[in-house]
Amino acid sequence: MYDIIIIGTGSGGGTIAQKLAPSGKKILIIERGDFIPREKENWDIEAVSKGRYRTTEKWYDAAGNAFEPYTHYVVGGNSKMYGAASFRLRDEDFSEVKHYAGISPKWPLTSIDYLPYYKEAEALFSVHGQKGLDPFEPKNQSDFPFEPISVEPFTKELYINMHKIGVRAFPIPMAVKLAQDESTPDAPHILGNFDGYPDPSEAKVDAHTSGIRSALKYSNVTLLTNAKATKLNTDESGKKVVSVEVEINGEMSTIATNLVVLAAGAINSAALLLKSANEKHPNGLANSSDQVGRNYMTHINGCQIAFTPNKLNVSAFQKYFCIGDYYYASAENELPLGEIQLMGKNDNDTYLGIGGEFFPGKDAHYIAQHAIDFWLTSEDLPDPNNRVKLTENGDIQLFYNREKNNVEAFENLKIKLHQIFEKLAAVDPDLKEVHWGGYDLGISGVSHQCGTLRFGNDSSTSVLDLNCKAHDLDNLFVADASFFPASGAYNPSLTIAANALRVGDFINTNF
Ligand SMILES: Cc1cc2nc3c(=O)[nH]c(=O)nc-3n(C[C@H](O)[C@H](O)[C@H](O)COP(=O)(O)OP(=O)(O)OC[C@H]3O[C@@H](n4cnc5c(N)ncnc54)[C@H](O)[C@@H]3O)c2cc1C
Repeated sequence: MYDIIIIGTGSGGGTIAQKLAPSGKKILIIERGDFIPREKENWDIEAVSKGRYRTTEKWYDAAGNAFEPYTHYVVGGNSKMYGAASFRLRDEDFSEVKHYAGISPKWPLTSIDYLPYYKEAEALFSVHGQKGLDPFEPKNQSDFPFEPISVEPFTKELYINMHKIGVRAFPIPMAVKLAQDESTPDAPHILGNFDGYPDPSEAKVDAHTSGIRSALKYSNVTLLTNAKATKLNTDESGKKVVSVEVEINGEMSTIATNLVVLAAGAINSAALLLKSANEKHPNGLANSSDQVGRNYMTHINGCQIAFTPNKLNVSAFQKYFCIGDYYYASAENELPLGEIQLMGKNDNDTYLGIGGEFFPGKDAHYIAQHAIDFWLTSEDLPDPNNRVKLTENGDIQLFYNREKNNVEAFENLKIKLHQIFEKLAAVDPDLKEVHWGGYDLGISGVSHQCGTLRFGNDSSTSVLDLNCKAHDLDNLFVADASFFPASGAYNPSLTIAANALRVGDFINTNF
């Protein structure tokens, strides 16, 4: 019998595990995946882009067509592959905001409620950044634990030129641990591929290295890998989860517990609750509101590549700055558009497929060195019809109508980026010739999934209360991205971690 079972080891599960571990409670962490081996393929562009570490599970879209979700079942969850951009949501993200596609609802808590937890999360994830440069930075942003990562000549020049034309680019806050953070080593750590790759050097701080590994230092904590939770069982009253059914290497076990923290990721957490329907919860566990699985969000995002025949980009680590100038309505844009980040480099197939026509006869390496890669993100808005359901066979079915969402903001954001480059040509003549290409994410792009078990005061319109405890149950908590009532347009992991720390505080104090 365990005091606490945590399901999942990603940004939410890993973070809450290290928060609960010192309590001395008997804790079991259940993870359906395994550790990613530290092997040469970690940084092999072809191996990773072909899906070496991704699940091959099939999910289904609204029409019943199968697709492979871009998601990872491993210790550390998707944070093992993330780009480590660690943003706080902006103050206004917690309020009601008007967008092209409608209203982004108010959160039931404010940015002030999250302040201590954002600070704790930034320390835990060793975030490198600089306060005071983002025009929409949260009012109470504290100093970052570390200075921004060092900038390479190419991105430094681009950054300076952005400021010359009035674009207030700022260094992306990054979750990294570097040899040069604490001392002056003879060999500083140079960052390479980690945006979309596991990092065998462990410079990238993820939920495995910062969370699970710390939790496992405590003898009261056990991790079960290759262990998939398949159902949560309740007592006769239906008010308490009493055990978790787990498939371990093909064998079924039932493990008893006093409390469950669900952190399987927004889509799998909703699916597990739907699968856990019983007599007292005929529509799925914690689903008296019929809200479980609804309001799925994943950001409207995609990549834009500036192909620059006259400009050589030989950056080893391109991911340096973010442009937040269009995040809210202003004189420049009547409604919020989102934000733009430099990103890690694309793979060879992408350069050849998208950029090949601009560089006849040139190989992918040449094209990559004449390309500047940007990641654009606009907020998507909660829509009850965008939702997770189960097929008759119990597989995940994802209903997501991207086109009905905030796409106009996203398309306007692309135009802004192109206009920025038109202005840049005035200060850097090598940028006079720019060809644009790119791609938008489709239904399989579930990296920023959230919102499927939203929290709120009203048990008829939300699944979780303000402590992320299920309204319908006394001992079921959620610590992953499911709780978001609105997504903002910044990457979610720091907010997931901050919220997991908040939920952990509540459990430590009250159970
Ligand atoms: C390529 C990529 C780049 C990204 N870059 C960034 C970035 O730069 N910044 C940022 O903020 N975010 C980024 N993200 C998103 C970020 O990684 C996620 O938002 C975050 O990891 C979600 O945390 P989570 O705890 O909600 O879920 P996850 O990290 O998905 O963790 C869920 C865990 O639960 C496990 N699990 C699922 N079902 C079960 C089950 N039934 N039983 C047991 N275990 C189960 C999974 O294996 C997984 O380990 C990126 C994601 C990807 C894929």
